[in-house]
Amino acid sequence: MKRLAILGSTGSIGVSTLEIVTEHPDCFEVVALTAGRNLALLEEQIARFRPQLVAVPDQVNAQRLEERIGTDGPRILYGTAGLISCAVESPADMVVSAIVGAAGLEPTLAAIQAGRDVALANKETLVIAGELVMSAAAESGCRLFPVDSEHSAIFQSLEGHRKADVRRLILTASGGPFRNWSLEDLQEVTPQDALAHPNWTMGRKITIDSATMMNKGLEVIEAHWLFNVPVEKIDVHIHPESIVHSLVEYVDGALLAQLGIPDMKTPIAYALTYPQRLPLDLPALDLCRLGQLNFAAPNSQCFPCLGLAYDAIKRGGTTPAVLNAANELAVDAFLHEKVGFLDIPRIIGSVVERHSSSAASNLEQILSADAWARQTAHAVICEIQGASYP
Ligand code: NAD
Ligand code: MG
Repeated sequence: MKRLAILGSTGSIGVSTLEIVTEHPDCFEVVALTAGRNLALLEEQIARFRPQLVAVPDQVNAQRLEERIGTDGPRILYGTAGLISCAVESPADMVVSAIVGAAGLEPTLAAIQAGRDVALANKETLVIAGELVMSAAAESGCRLFPVDSEHSAIFQSLEGHRKADVRRLILTASGGPFRNWSLEDLQEVTPQDALAHPNWTMGRKITIDSATMMNKGLEVIEAHWLFNVPVEKIDVHIHPESIVHSLVEYVDGALLAQLGIPDMKTPIAYALTYPQRLPLDLPALDLCRLGQLNFAAPNSQCFPCLGLAYDAIKRGGTTPAVLNAANELAVDAFLHEKVGFLDIPRIIGSVVERHSSSAASNLEQILSADAWARQTAHAVICEIQGASYP
């Protein structure tokens, strides 16, 4: 029986994780849940999984939830301190890090520092604070299991092999809904267009990141830290079918990959029960019916976010944290129809250009760069809005 603390339980990854728990009640116990705004779903999850600890973003929501569930429910906490308590004070064997964005950093880092094993979906944590997180994990001796499907595929393809024999990692990317669109067409993209991902059902932010290819950029940085491979040895291939989830190329020319239907339950379950594989109620992959698999190089002209991410990790220090924060604000502005689709890379590029990178070896330095980037991105968004709507 593995005890789980699930941070971000009402999101796409959180809900899939709880579906796996429901399919295998003998394997898991849920000891803590945290959610952002969806209190109705959180309430259902509390009734069903009976955690000891729960955290919501603020005191108002904590009181509202307390009134709804009465006094014999779990302890209800709030804010970043509440998230951290769920990660480190609950009796969890494993923390599932599935909050979206920089909000996931502090509880995830706290879990790692406390030596808790982590199933990591929140890729932003490694983008913002890769050096800090990986050294904290080495120090506490905890294990980090990738949930992201590409990283799970690489993790699986590295199993039983010598790290020294790796020539490069190849991350696959579906290319999103606009893979074959021209720059001209991309100017007209609406949030509804961008939210319609061809292969995966995910939260709103990562779906937009997939459409701009920033998701793959964040994943290159995530892979760099997770597998300790220089970014020069990490390539991206467009693979529209999302069947080959990523590959490892070895020095003898062998390519090892993991294939499967695009469903996050497979990588989530592997992270939860590694090295054991759980039987899952998913349709089998029928390669004969599929017929063919396609691969192509990314289009850097239409999708500059991928290049921005490579540049950011090469500059290092606080630059990836700045890239991430600028992206979060740009995506939010796009979703609220304040800026256009092609403004997303413009905003990020402009914020990164204004930043003088410095060391990112402690949390204060990182949080201060994150705050600076949010302020600067806000100013850039206002400039763009002013230019578009005089
Ligand atoms: P989502 O938007 O569906 O869910 C996010 C969760 O975080 C929700 O429970 C939400 O309430 C909570 N949350 C949001 N803001 C918060 C805040 N400020 N404080 C506390 N909680 C907050 O997102 P998702 O698609 O499940 O993605 C979660 C993470 O997993 C992201 O980092 C994403 O990049 C990564 N990921 C997701 C997928 C996928 O298929 N969905 C695949 C790979 C990686
Ligand atoms: Mg992914």
